[in-house]
Amino acid sequence: MAAPLIIWFRQDLRLTDHSALLAALSLARETGAELVAAYILDDDTPGQWRAGGASRWWLHHSLASLDSSLRQLGGHLSLRRGDTHRELRQLVSETGAQQVFCSRNYEPWARDLEQRLHEDLGAQGVGLRRYPGALLFEPEAVRTGAGEPYKVFTPYWKACLRQPPPQAPRARPGSLPAFVEGVDSVPLQELELLPQAPNWAAGWDQLWQPGESGAAAALSRFLDGPLDDYDESRNHPDREATSRLSAHMHFGEISPRQLWQAIHQHCQSRPALDHQRDKFLSEMGWREFSHHLLHHFPDIPETAFKRDFDRFPWLGDRDKLLAWQRGLTGYPIVDAGMRELWQTGYMHNRVRMITASFLTKHLLVPWTEGERWFWDTLVDADLANNACGWQWVAGSGADAAPYFRIFNPTLQGKKFDSAGAYVRRWVPEIATLPDKYLHEPITAPAAALEAAGVVLGQTYPNPIVVHRDAREAALAAYGSLRA
Ligand code: FAD
Repeated sequence: MAAPLIIWFRQDLRLTDHSALLAALSLARETGAELVAAYILDDDTPGQWRAGGASRWWLHHSLASLDSSLRQLGGHLSLRRGDTHRELRQLVSETGAQQVFCSRNYEPWARDLEQRLHEDLGAQGVGLRRYPGALLFEPEAVRTGAGEPYKVFTPYWKACLRQPPPQAPRARPGSLPAFVEGVDSVPLQELELLPQAPNWAAGWDQLWQPGESGAAAALSRFLDGPLDDYDESRNHPDREATSRLSAHMHFGEISPRQLWQAIHQHCQSRPALDHQRDKFLSEMGWREFSHHLLHHFPDIPETAFKRDFDRFPWLGDRDKLLAWQRGLTGYPIVDAGMRELWQTGYMHNRVRMITASFLTKHLLVPWTEGERWFWDTLVDADLANNACGWQWVAGSGADAAPYFRIFNPTLQGKKFDSAGAYVRRWVPEIATLPDKYLHEPITAPAAALEAAGVVLGQTYPNPIVVHRDAREAALAAYGSLRA
């Protein structure tokens, strides 16, 4: 009998449109080889970018869902824990496999790992076959006229749209060949992905449905309503106006090709939706762009893209960082965002921008501190998107918002949460303040505060910085950099 084939699952926890899986299946059918499907939880190789707490919660449920999908077709997922290089070599020697199939990943540590595996397994006569699948356009495929990587989003995305359109997604297999029996596997609980006491993720299974069917459900919810007004409503955190697909995308529970095709098919006979479709695709374009940047500039998670920002005179006050993390800054929209993040593992994009701007510009805390906090607390934590998001807001990134454009958190709150529903939900201690004071409790007269049961400095903090002073300090810091 032909040697078994290993399908090594990574950030591609799905069966539909899975090129590596389909290639392995077709070879197995041709040769009669048996399969091994494996996932390896590796906390060593990624170094400081090992999966954060909220991501681990998601991963636990996503692995359970993938295993159950495989079992419905007569297969199963083998789980391992440890250094990927060692575990894969061991799996190869345990099973006598001759080929390992996987999807490409783009994190710098993952690329190094792929290279080492390719060489080491190759030396043993075992092939590592890598397939694209996480992106619409591979990072090397899109280049400027001079053959360079793009550093500005608009020309990058135009160049992507000039490429041949992504191929149609490939169907989910209807059956699987036989699986190798008796492969060592750790029970899912032993991966210890779920929080122990205190269980900060209590109730998250009512909010999120990790796994392929959860991704499909999120997509159809989005197509059935929010897409119709996506461009306008997407900036309002109190509305359910975006797709909430980011964690599903990060874990590869739905492929970008599936999303691309679903959006096109849905809008095909509805020309009124063309603008909404293009806006949504351009947001997917930012995801592509972030991965393009990470591929070509692998140190962006740690180092300012605009190198002069490495000399930025950050203050890095730990108490202020703590107040920001806990949602106790005295700026209601910032506090609402930080509490939404802690309580749900998610924060609305507009509020990510406001809270990130507040940390880096009002508090002068380095963007890398915020990046690390998001990394640990977001269910959709993604090295490329997170690093680029932070550098974009901080002003140090490729095609970033200019540093001197400093959000006024109060005005942002009034503009994008005008009825106050978002702040009232996440900052209940000020919920009964009248609308006109909600985003700025410090301006409320004593009677209004008393009527709402708010005692500033006791039941809700005074602002930890004064906007105007903080703005001036930030501009002075930026000026010193330029000097
Ligand atoms: P939708 O509006 O429905 O967008 C659809 C998809 O497009 C998203 O699921 C996502 O995959 C992609 N997308 C949308 N906006 C962006 C963007 N600005 N950059 C890259 N991709 C985008 N996104 C992450 O997936 N992981 C992160 O760790 C992350 N960290 C961020 C940190 C900061 C400081 C900022 C400002 C943004 C960050 N983003 C991150 C981008 C964005 O906030 C989220 O992708 C988005 O809020 C997810 O919600 P959604 O799926 O409903 O988005």
